[in-house]
Amino acid sequence: MKRVILLVLSISLLLLPFTGLAAEQNIQILVNGEKITTDTPPIISSDRVLVPIRVISEALGYNVVWDVTTKEVIIKDDSNTLKLIINEPTIWKNGNQSELDVAPMLVNNRTMLPIRAVAENLNTSVDWDNATKTVIINTIEPEPPRTLTSIEQSGTSFTLNFTNGSDPVGRDIFTLSDPERLVIDLENMVLAEEVSMPSIEENEYIADIRYSQYEINPNRVRVVIDLKQPAKYSITQNDNSITLELRSPEEKIVVIDPGHGGKDPGAISVTGRYEKNLNWETALKVVALLENEPNLTVKLTRNNDTYVSLDNRVEFANNLNADLYLSIHANALPSRPDIRGTETYYTRADSLDFATMVHQQLLVATGFTDRRVRYNDFRVTKYTTMPAALIEVGYLTNSVEEEAMYNPDFQQKVAEGIAAAIKEYLSIGVEGTVE
Ligand SMILES: [Zn+2]
Repeated sequence: MKRVILLVLSISLLLLPFTGLAAEQNIQILVNGEKITTDTPPIISSDRVLVPIRVISEALGYNVVWDVTTKEVIIKDDSNTLKLIINEPTIWKNGNQSELDVAPMLVNNRTMLPIRAVAENLNTSVDWDNATKTVIINTIEPEPPRTLTSIEQSGTSFTLNFTNGSDPVGRDIFTLSDPERLVIDLENMVLAEEVSMPSIEENEYIADIRYSQYEINPNRVRVVIDLKQPAKYSITQNDNSITLELRSPEEKIVVIDPGHGGKDPGAISVTGRYEKNLNWETALKVVALLENEPNLTVKLTRNNDTYVSLDNRVEFANNLNADLYLSIHANALPSRPDIRGTETYYTRADSLDFATMVHQQLLVATGFTDRRVRYNDFRVTKYTTMPAALIEVGYLTNSVEEEAMYNPDFQQKVAEGIAAAIKEYLSIGVEGTVE
């Protein structure tokens, strides 16, 4: 329905000189400083500028194929392929799909494409000058490749050193079995004439390290670690190095994420107390309960009262290759102080078992109303790569639950429930589990 309205609007916009809309016909396009003239004027739809397909092909110089029957537009540069479909608000970049604010459309039989979405996926910057109604497009020189200069090994960890670049280095790390190997692919990377690498010193995991210029144009270096036995790894990445620390798959890492922190207080309770402090106190109690567990390491996403973005929390857990992730929160609904109870959230199917276990433990620990295990698209449960759950222990806007939750004895019980669920999920010990 929406698309029909947009289409009608776009066509009427070209036919009728409405005041207010008429200005949209005067949109200018500058490509690398040069003004582009088009037979069909650019249009604005849903606050996005759409330009005729010829701007993309001729002015920007990309290879464009338009299939009338499938209504598909294929746009290619040296390393990327984009696909768009008329009237579908979706763009595919090298097969990966993402959403568009506005769909490509036909206007007077001309194919109009959302310029920002197309350009930003093709090494091109796009700016909009509202005063002059000008779309400013500049092609960006691709970053020169970095050089892998040396590989160092120390015990069960090793470091790949390379030259600096402006963007974080692109990498893909995965394991292969039969025989056990760890593979690190470094994007836009070339080998130094001589990569320095001392001979491997005696250790539990690393038998040998090999490297090659795996691909040229785009350049990719592949480093292969021949392993003596299966291993898990944690990653530390800097501007000019990546370090991998190997560990036994038996050694589990749990990330506890005390929600909010620093400038972000989280919810404000009915008596004006901050959610972030409650989350922190509970997290500390969980750490205390688990820190002496053999083969288990507990890591916190933040130190005391600091602000850490959601994406950095996810990256922290993913780089550790943690086995489990638990985000601790408390709920709030100021308009409904009567609402109370415990909720546990998950996003990916592989997280449901853990979410269910921790929820059962929380119900027993809190005695609060069961508001169920629920699905939600929270970033920390969606983008983490290990089973992940987010708990909302109770409602800070309900005076009964608020008073209980700030009581240290109550927090201890909640922490014991969380610790029991973690041990149950990871099959560590049996004490404290509830059936
Ligand atoms: Zn929260």
